[in-house]
Amino acid sequence: MDLALTPEQRAFREEVRAFLAASLSPKLRRGAALTSGVFAEPDIAREWQAILEAKGWLVYHWPDHAGGPGWTPVQRWIFEKECAEAGAPILPGMGLKLVGPVLYTYGTQAQKDHYLPRLRTAEHVWAQGFSEPGSGSDLASLRTRAVRDGDHYVVSGHKIWTTQAHHANRLFALVRTDPHVKPQQGISFLLIDMALPGVTVKPILSASGDHELNEVFLDEVRVPVSDRVGEEGQGWSIAKFLLENERGGSSFAPAILADLARLRTSMGPLTGELADRAVRLQLEAEALEMTELRTLIEIEHGAAPDPRSLTTKLLASEIRQGVEALAVDAFGLAGLQLPVERPFYGDAMPTPIGSPEAQVAAARYLNARAWSIFGGTSEIQLTLIAKAALGL
Ligand SMILES: Cc1cc2nc3c(=O)[nH]c(=O)nc-3n(C[C@H](O)[C@H](O)[C@H](O)COP(=O)(O)OP(=O)(O)OC[C@H]3O[C@@H](n4cnc5c(N)ncnc54)[C@H](O)[C@@H]3O)c2cc1C
Repeated sequence: MDLALTPEQRAFREEVRAFLAASLSPKLRRGAALTSGVFAEPDIAREWQAILEAKGWLVYHWPDHAGGPGWTPVQRWIFEKECAEAGAPILPGMGLKLVGPVLYTYGTQAQKDHYLPRLRTAEHVWAQGFSEPGSGSDLASLRTRAVRDGDHYVVSGHKIWTTQAHHANRLFALVRTDPHVKPQQGISFLLIDMALPGVTVKPILSASGDHELNEVFLDEVRVPVSDRVGEEGQGWSIAKFLLENERGGSSFAPAILADLARLRTSMGPLTGELADRAVRLQLEAEALEMTELRTLIEIEHGAAPDPRSLTTKLLASEIRQGVEALAVDAFGLAGLQLPVERPFYGDAMPTPIGSPEAQVAAARYLNARAWSIFGGTSEIQLTLIAKAALGL
């Protein structure tokens, strides 16, 4: 298989590179580099989202009929690779990567007309209300109830681990509309305005001290039936479509390789065991990149995604955790500082010991533990691989 870029693809890469060089301010780059969580904080994210939207590249992974630029899978990969190497902020994916594709695939015309433009301008900021206490891996057991009352559902339940819900004004949620059928068949997909009476958000602080996660309590929230996506009882199929986008859909390796390169610059020369680990992580990330590219090129040539692509989230989680662990070890004592102030690029941060990169390393290490949990745990990924790829 030829992995070399064509002349057209190389020209496209130059165009992306030039745009990034002109558009990424030092503030945006610094904000992205010193982000301790998975996604950029709202101040950075909003600014970068507006720049991408003005250029027409915000929804680069959406098909052209939904308002995307009509790029091929390889163009999308080039864009992600260049963004990673330039150190662009990582935009929260709940709206752009998760509910956006659900809306243009399953939504009514009225839902598309109302929600897609507001998602793009960030007038609507979305959170994902799937998990509940006791219903994570076993998502189909979820208990949040939605009882029909005329042209509304009355929704009551408890969602948990809801990333950035404290910044969001919209929640897409799985709810149980029929408790009398097979669990998967009784689930529906609702769009919930978080300003409605009965919605309460409570923070969960991570081990790092970051506030990314929340509990969302829904107490008799009246949601219009017109804000149900798909048919009643179709929520499980829509959730599976969405989770495929969450676990795959994007390339993981470019960001890992770019972060590793930046870290190696700030860590300085490594020796002994640390040098060995850095080389091993580099090779593993490059191998992951080859797998991701191979899958993309197969898709570009019309093939269905290979079950091998299921391995990418699993491998990316392990390599990402390895990179953050390497940083903490390589920075030595400076890698153990864990200030309570946030964000790491803000004015309130104490003077770093060593460097700003060392100052953020412990928080990034702790947050990276979540890679093997969110979007489906590594154990669940292994089961999927065993079934789909190995036929076990
Ligand atoms: C940082 C972070 C952000 C998140 N953001 C969101 C969000 O925005 N919205 C949202 O809805 N959810 C979110 N989640 C929740 C996430 O999807 C769940 O945590 C995840 O699905 C695991 O569910 P659980 O926590 O209930 O663990 P459990 O399902 O209880 O799993 C506990 C352990 O048991 C193992 N296990 C469970 N079942 C099996 C099995 N069948 N076979 C083998 N091992 C098994 C798991 O692998 C895990 O090690 C987030 C989680 C994290 C950590």
